[in-house]
Amino acid sequence: MSTGVPRILLVEDNESNRYLAKFLLEREGLCVQEAVNGAEALEQARRWQPDLIILDIQMPEMDGYEAGQRLRAADETRHIPLVAASSFAMAGDRERALRLGFADYFEKPYDPETFVDRIRRQLPSRQP
Ligand code: MN
Repeated sequence: MSTGVPRILLVEDNESNRYLAKFLLEREGLCVQEAVNGAEALEQARRWQPDLIILDIQMPEMDGYEAGQRLRAADETRHIPLVAASSFAMAGDRERALRLGFADYFEKPYDPETFVDRIRRQLPSRQP
């Protein structure tokens, strides 16, 4: 089932942010699937069991905080590391995300120099 290639679920409603993140991750050999809203994220996380989930905070209907809490609450997805991404560097956002159990918090636009390394750092180590 596992190929050893890290699998990332990228949850982002903004097309250009999604494009850039996917490009940067795939350029480094990571496997990426996309979801464009919270409901899709929950469904894909359950089905695909990614190694890590990147959650945009600003999304309509279900924001990234709520999606994260739901992923944390479900037995099938609570083990998957979450990282948050936000375009609005609001005071307290980073603290809120970390308090809710996100492993890291990214301000967008992503820094192409450090983005993938920071993602890799949060991947669970794979035992053969
Ligand atoms: Mn958004």
